[in-house]
Amino acid sequence: MVGTDRRDPSRAEVVVIGGGMVGLASAIALRERGLDVLLCDPGEARARTSFGNAGVLSRGSILPMAGPALWGKLPAYLRNADRSLRLRHAHVLRVLPWTAHFLAAARASAWRRAAAALAPLTAAAYGEHERLAARARVSHLLRRNGWIKLYRTEAAFAGAALEREILRDHGVALDILNGAALRDLEPALVRPYARAMLLPETGAVGDPGALVEAFEALFADLGGRRINAGITGLTPGEGGWVLRHDAGEVRARQVVLAAGAASAAIARPLGYRFAFAAERGYHRHYALHPESPPLTRPVLDTGAGSIIAPMGEGRVRVLSGVELNAREAPPDYRQIEAASTEAAGTLRLGNTLDNQPWMGARPSTPDGMPVIGRAPRHAGLIFAFGHGHIGLSTGPITGRLVADLVTGSEPTVPLAPFAPERLLRWPRLRTGSVA
Ligand SMILES: Cc1cc2nc3c(=O)[nH]c(=O)nc-3n(C[C@H](O)[C@H](O)[C@H](O)COP(=O)(O)OP(=O)(O)OC[C@H]3O[C@@H](n4cnc5c(N)ncnc54)[C@H](O)[C@@H]3O)c2cc1C
Repeated sequence: MVGTDRRDPSRAEVVVIGGGMVGLASAIALRERGLDVLLCDPGEARARTSFGNAGVLSRGSILPMAGPALWGKLPAYLRNADRSLRLRHAHVLRVLPWTAHFLAAARASAWRRAAAALAPLTAAAYGEHERLAARARVSHLLRRNGWIKLYRTEAAFAGAALEREILRDHGVALDILNGAALRDLEPALVRPYARAMLLPETGAVGDPGALVEAFEALFADLGGRRINAGITGLTPGEGGWVLRHDAGEVRARQVVLAAGAASAAIARPLGYRFAFAAERGYHRHYALHPESPPLTRPVLDTGAGSIIAPMGEGRVRVLSGVELNAREAPPDYRQIEAASTEAAGTLRLGNTLDNQPWMGARPSTPDGMPVIGRAPRHAGLIFAFGHGHIGLSTGPITGRLVADLVTGSEPTVPLAPFAPERLLRWPRLRTGSVA
């Protein structure tokens, strides 16, 4: 906004809690519909999971973690012997509603249902990114040349047959490559792989943190306001809401709760007890060896349970699988160290470029689907969180759906599968402070 902003800083039509990809996209979509929007976020860029992810914008990410293959892997998971998942056993019990629901969802029928619900969301994801990136004048940060799942053995490839069947059922384009075709496509890969699956419609962001910053600037250009503060209390009041934050108080007619992995704790004092967990993840950057060809798209090595994504000239980001532990527990770098060792056998890596790895937390629902919908017992409160492994991809389209809910328009993606009610076990309603 040019000139002095005369709007009352303690009032807004809509307050959005959380400035990661989901909250920011919601705030932008609401401004685009002409609403007066205030975004509340502590303002620490690296604290956002949207900062440190793999940057994959995948049309084909419609299959949740809880799938039928889980049962065969469970003994290894429980022993922390599978690199893709690291459990802190006491914590798994602490998030028992999430764990029980997760295990119950690990069936082929539930997997197919989730895929059917997620397909329209992921199908719209890239287009919405393109639209916002063009408005923010950062289209150069996006590219669309696919991503690759790598299989070290024929048995591992055969084990993913149901995944391919479901992807094809939903019209997701995929090409199967043998080892030689893979080497032609990505000569940077030095490890021999038996097979690979290329998902050509997938896009990628070469710097997710820069994309978030560009969307922040777009929100400001659109006249959006922000407070660099965390919300500490959320209370229903006459005609709307009172939100307490680190530096004062603000009133709003409607509130969008989009605080990523912190969202369930913020909703809890209102009586909403979600089956919810943090799936922590890590990344570390490496220079590619000067004689290595560039890596041109992200790859998921299913044998290592980790992703390697190109992040600018001669630089790659190695990302760990899932660590199930409390959001605020101290980092445990063992998983990213193992992922880095595996990555060094996959690519010719040079030095690490970071003093220490980054850690973030995927906001996780047990059925792998986000929560997008109105709070069941409070008017003027919209939930938009729990995007798990696909929140960078589906943040912008979620923002549009949130704006539909706030303005009473018909959502362009069916929202019934994402209703909050499915994850609420013991709703006890009251008002109060954020724990
Ligand atoms: C290793 C890893 C790799 C990933 N790879 C991909 C990928 O390739 N593609 C993809 O689509 N997704 C990926 N994801 C998932 C994706 O990053 C998340 O789903 C997404 O970032 C979630 O966005 P969000 O806006 O909900 O949360 P966040 O980005 O975490 O933002 C939440 C914001 O809320 C703020 N907040 C917290 N508490 C409060 C409070 N009390 N008041 C106000 N604000 C608050 C936080 O500070 C933060 O800024 C990956 C995740 C990880 C960990």
